[in-house]
Amino acid sequence: MIFNIHGGHNRIVVGACGCFSEVEEDRKVKDLVISKLIALGHTVYDCTDEQATTQRENLSNIVSKCNAHKVDLDISIHFNSFNGLAHGTEAYTYDNLGSAYKAACQIVNAISELGFKNRGVKVNPSYYVLRKTTAPAILVECCFCDSAEDAGRYNAESMATAIVKGLTGQVVLASPKPAVNQNPVKKSIDEIAREVINGRWGNGESRRQALVQAGYDYGTVQAKVNQILGCVSSSPSAPSNNLLDLVRKTINGSFGNGAARRAALGSRYAEVQHQVNLNIKHQTMNNPRIY
Ligand SMILES: [Zn+2]
Repeated sequence: MIFNIHGGHNRIVVGACGCFSEVEEDRKVKDLVISKLIALGHTVYDCTDEQATTQRENLSNIVSKCNAHKVDLDISIHFNSFNGLAHGTEAYTYDNLGSAYKAACQIVNAISELGFKNRGVKVNPSYYVLRKTTAPAILVECCFCDSAEDAGRYNAESMATAIVKGLTGQVVLASPKPAVNQNPVKKSIDEIAREVINGRWGNGESRRQALVQAGYDYGTVQAKVNQILGCVSSSPSAPSNNLLDLVRKTINGSFGNGAARRAALGSRYAEVQHQVNLNIKHQTMNNPRIY
C-alpha cells in the first residue's frame, strides 16, 4: 500500500502539552510508523511540516504535501489533551464509510490492547486535514499527553507498533537497542524521579536524551515525576500574574515543558494549561485569549 504519514503541529506552532509534549512525541511515533511500514514493503511519504509559523499555514502545508502524492490513506498523528483526567485513545475520520473508518477502528483497537481506554472512532467532517485531503484520511489521537495515567503507559515504540498493526495486521518489533541500554547498573525509578525533580537531569529534550542514554525509559521516569509532584502542584510560590498573561508566557515557552512548566506555574498550572489547550483547539495560539 501507499501511505502519507505526518506528525501534527510543529515546533513553532506547538500542539498540546501536559505530562509530555505532543509535538515531540508525535514525531517519534511518526518516524517509527514510517520505518515499520517501509520494513513491511509499503511506500510511505512523510508529510510533516516543520516550516509554518501559524496553525493555518501548518495545516495547509500538510494538506499540500499529502495531496502531492496518490496514496491509499493519509495518517495524521496527534496526542490529545483535556483536563488531566480524560484518558485513552481515539481516532477521527471524515465519514464512517470506506477504508479510512475501517483502518481507524483497527488502529484504536490495537492501541487499546496496550491498556489504553478505547474511546472509539469519531466522525468529524469539519477537521481541516480530513476535509481537504484527497485520499481517505485518519487523525489518530494516540492518547492524552496531559493524563498521568496515559503518560505512564505511553511508549513511542509500542504506540507505533500498534498503529502499524492496525493499518496492516502485521507486527514489526523494535530493532535491538544499543548496548548502553543493556547495562544493568540502574537506580530505581523512584530514585531517578527524585533526581529529576532536584534538577540533576536538566530539562526538556536534554533531560530526555540523558535519561535514554543512561538506559532509563523516559516515559516511565516522567510519569513517576508527575506522580510524585501530583498532577496539580502545591508549590507555595504561585505566580501572581493574571491568567491571560500566564497563558501567553506559557505559549511563548517561558515556562518550558512538562514537569518544569508544572513547577513554574505552581497552583496556577491546571487553569493555565486548560486555557493553553483551548487556544490550541481553537487555533488562537498566535493571539491567545481566555475561553
Ligand atoms: Zn494535535
